This record gives sequence, C-alpha cells and structure tokens, in this order.
Amino acid sequence: MALIVHKYGGTSMGSTERIRNVAKRVAKWARAGHQMVVVPSAMSGETNRLLGLARELQPEGHSAQLARELDMIASTGEQVSVGLLAIALQAEGLEAVSYAGWQVPIRTDSAYTKARIESIDDIRVRADLAAGKVVVITGFQGIDGEGHITTLGRGGSDTSAVAVAAAMKAAECLIYTDVDGVYTTDPRVVPEARRLQAISFEEMLEMASLGSKVLQIRSVEFAGKYRVPLRVLSSFTPWDIPLAEEAVSGTLITFEEDENMEQAIVSGIAFNRDEAKISLLGVADKPGIAYQILGPVADANIDVDMIIQNVAHDGRTDFSFTVHRNDYARTLELLKSAVQPLTHAAQITGDAKICKVSIVGIGMRSHVGVASRMFRTLSEEGINIQMISTSEIKTSVVIDEKYMELAVRALHKAFGLDAPPAATAA
Ligand code: ASP
Ligand code: MG
Repeated sequence: MALIVHKYGGTSMGSTERIRNVAKRVAKWARAGHQMVVVPSAMSGETNRLLGLARELQPEGHSAQLARELDMIASTGEQVSVGLLAIALQAEGLEAVSYAGWQVPIRTDSAYTKARIESIDDIRVRADLAAGKVVVITGFQGIDGEGHITTLGRGGSDTSAVAVAAAMKAAECLIYTDVDGVYTTDPRVVPEARRLQAISFEEMLEMASLGSKVLQIRSVEFAGKYRVPLRVLSSFTPWDIPLAEEAVSGTLITFEEDENMEQAIVSGIAFNRDEAKISLLGVADKPGIAYQILGPVADANIDVDMIIQNVAHDGRTDFSFTVHRNDYARTLELLKSAVQPLTHAAQITGDAKICKVSIVGIGMRSHVGVASRMFRTLSEEGINIQMISTSEIKTSVVIDEKYMELAVRALHKAFGLDAPPAATAA
C-alpha cells in the first residue's frame, strides 16, 4: 500500500462522462489498497471562459486589484471539478471528500495570477486518508498570508499536484493527460518520434523550457527539488486496464543516477518559434557596451535569451540577441529611441522569422563531438546557423524558421532517435 497522487488535466475532466471515467480509474487504485489524493484541473475551456467574462467587463489593464479578482474568478473552475469528482467517487462506492486550496490549506505568496506555493499543511488530508477517504484537492489555487485566493499561473495544476505529493511524501505523482508521455520530439513534426520510457529531471526541464509543453515547467522544478517521482501518462486508456500495466506506462521523470535510464546521448529535440532576433551593427567596442544595450531592455522587463557579440574590427563590433516574439516590436523601438544615441550603432536590424532548435541530453556531459555532429547535420541540409548557445546538457541554434521542420527531422535521425533504443534496461 502506498500514498499516490493523481493529477487529471482539463481534457480528462472535460465532461461528466469523463469525470465518471476518472472516478472509476481512481477507484481501481483505491481498491488495490492505495491511499489516494487526486488533484484535478478545471473542465477544459473553463478557465478561458471565466477569464473571458472578466475581460468583457475590463478589457485592459494589469493592476494588482484586477489580478486579485481574476484569481477569485479563475479559481472557481477547479472548485467545480473537485466537487464533481468527489460525487463521482461516492457514486463508485468510495468515501471521498473535496477541498479548495484554502481549506487544506495550500499557502502561497501574494503574486496574483502567478503565485508560488510556500507550504502545504498535511494534517487534515492525512486524517481523511487514515479514515479511508479519497481526498480531492483543487489544482491551480491557494491562499496567501492575508487570506486572499491566489492562482499559480496557467497550467498550474501540475505544480499543485507535485507540491501536494512532496508535502505528503507520496510514493509517486502520476500526471494523467491527453498525451501518453514525453516524446523524443513533437510527433506532428516527426512521425517517427518515440515515447521515452524515462527522462531525467534536468532533461525534462530543458525540454519544457525549450517549448515542449507537456508539463508546467515549475512543476518539474518542484519535483526535482523535492525529489518527487513523477510520471506522465494517458488518461485515455480504458479505465479498467490492469493496474500493473498502467503503473509502468507513460514516461517516468527520474533522477540521473537511476539505473533504468535509456542510454542515449541525445534524448530529445526541442524547438520553438517564439523568438525574434535583433542585431546592432557597428557599435563602439568599449567597456560597458553590453550593459548600454541590454540595460534598458531589462529595465523594460523584456527577457533576453541568446546573446552574441562578435570580434571587433577597427574599434567596432556587432551585437545580436533574441527576445520573445511578442516583445520584438517594443524592443526594436526601444533600441532605436534609447540605445542608438548612446552606442552610435551604424544599423539596427531585426528578424522575427527565426526559430530555435535544440538537442537535449545528459549524455552530452560525457561525450565529445555532439555539438559538431549537430552542426554537420545542419550543414548537410544546407541550413545556415545564425546563433549558437550551449549548456552542459543542450545545444541550441537559431535558424531561419522556414527550415525548422527539416532541421528537426534531420537531427532526430542523426542522433538515432528514429530507431528504437538499442538497450533499455527497465
Ligand atoms: N485550469 C488552469 C488552466 O487552465 C490550471 C490547469 O489546468 O492546470 O490554466
Ligand atoms: Mg496542463
């Protein structure tokens, strides 16, 4: 018998019929003798609908006052879900009780619409579990020090579930979703993409931050920090498949030192089209230049991702960086008005039609030549690399967005991800 946390996403909770299915699945686990805590999202589309109502009354603005009310509104989606699921569990003959975040309580800071969990009290939940109840807790929401309702940012139910699992020291946190695991890359781009049986936390963090949207990134950080065993699996399998089969399905997010990792150098290829590149040509090569360019950008709260400064010639150099595409126009404007007069750049240019493609794998730590194989593969396809950045376990390149799919397919093949792994010691 173990304490298990299940998390169900919006599509899994999308109708009363699906909620009944969730209840049957949870009941199967409870009847096998496990103590069950379930954290559902709002029914699919519900959070958007609720926030849309608010925007009808207040189309613009970002005040703290507004953010507080948005959380008050958006958090109700999850409150409906827990009540419905508790009823469905009772209909299955189980004892079940639902709680909103403030009833547990799940304490957060006061950053409305993107609050962070600070602590979770486990006393009430433990008492219910000891009394044989299934406990259903709202995802996404919490309560701050002054008693205001907060939410954790879009997709935040993943983080709620992992935080609850950490606080309860659960044996495993299972994230049931509408895909059946984490893939080597997006199967819509590469049909040969394979589901990974296991991926390390660090790789998952890179994949999530580089555009693979299976889990909210903060939930992965949380799981890594508190060492919560995490599994992503499908809620669209028949609810009555054998528990032993279900328990090892999907993708396990694991720790590097674990034995059952697939022995691949590169585990996955991530990509996104969310960035834009900006270049300042012929800026004076003198101390403080990077600060003169990027200081005003940071002050305007614009996130910079990749940065390149070229070798100088005749006291002049070129400087390029990328920002989120949504910030592209604003950044260009800012550079022309505030930065050009200081740096005397000969020219400021930009390109929003770029994409970032990355290879990710902890094997890169112990193998040389991985990045060069990436560059060779791209050159064989005639793809020009505009920028490069590396970390211990990833290499990213910026290329023209029209070559994105070609690049991802070629890299997927070059790193042997098309073929099933040679040896999986599971
Ligand atoms: N219901 C929230 C959202 O749509 C939280 C979640 O689903 O994880 O973002
Ligand atoms: Mg989600």
